[in-house]
Amino acid sequence: MNPITTIAHDAWREDALCRQTDPEIFHPEVGGTAVPAKQTCMACPVRPDCLDYAIDTRQQWGIWGGVGQKELRRLINQRTAA
Ligand code: SF4
Repeated sequence: MNPITTIAHDAWREDALCRQTDPEIFHPEVGGTAVPAKQTCMACPVRPDCLDYAIDTRQQWGIWGGVGQKELRRLINQRTAA
């Protein structure tokens, strides 16, 4: 990976709201609720960067940018098809 790209990709993490919350809420167990994580994401100043990163890197676990895995897979497939 290009180091410049890596730096740019990671810079948004400094302002990530999830750094101030319980990380467990972003990985709810099967049957658990994703609502607290998604509510945190909706107030997060770097949500677009986070979601873009998750799509680019094809994240397979957890809540990213306010979306769960089903929606994230749809967005990954949409970007792949574009
Ligand atoms: S959008 Fe959500 S998962 Fe992404 S950095 Fe912000 S709080 Fe964390």
